[in-house]
Amino acid sequence: MTSKEFSQLIENISSKISKIQQNFDDYQKEFFPERSPQFFCLELNGEAGELANLEKKKWKGREVSDDKIADEAADVFIAIMNYANSRGINLERAILNKLKIIETIRQERADQGLKY
Ligand SMILES: [Mg+2]
Repeated sequence: MTSKEFSQLIENISSKISKIQQNFDDYQKEFFPERSPQFFCLELNGEAGELANLEKKKWKGREVSDDKIADEAADVFIAIMNYANSRGINLERAILNKLKIIETIRQERADQGLKY
């Protein structure tokens, strides 16, 4: 990834994540009961567990459709949106902060000829 493409990633996060998070919040509040951050945290981990189980089955050589994996990945995405909204987390700010840390470490390691 070029530095220009990385800048595009940052720009897309900055311009789109908050809107998407807000849309999920509006959708959740209009059509579903209010739930605690603890509920959504458990839901998130439950969905991540379902995804992990599918990957485990696939790893062991069993047939798992890409559609099933995509469905569970979508559940994880929706659950993290609901969790962040219920907990009052600004995902845009959190992701940008984390990417800054990751990129600083990655660059330091790259300068030393090391992989992340
Ligand atoms: Mg699921």
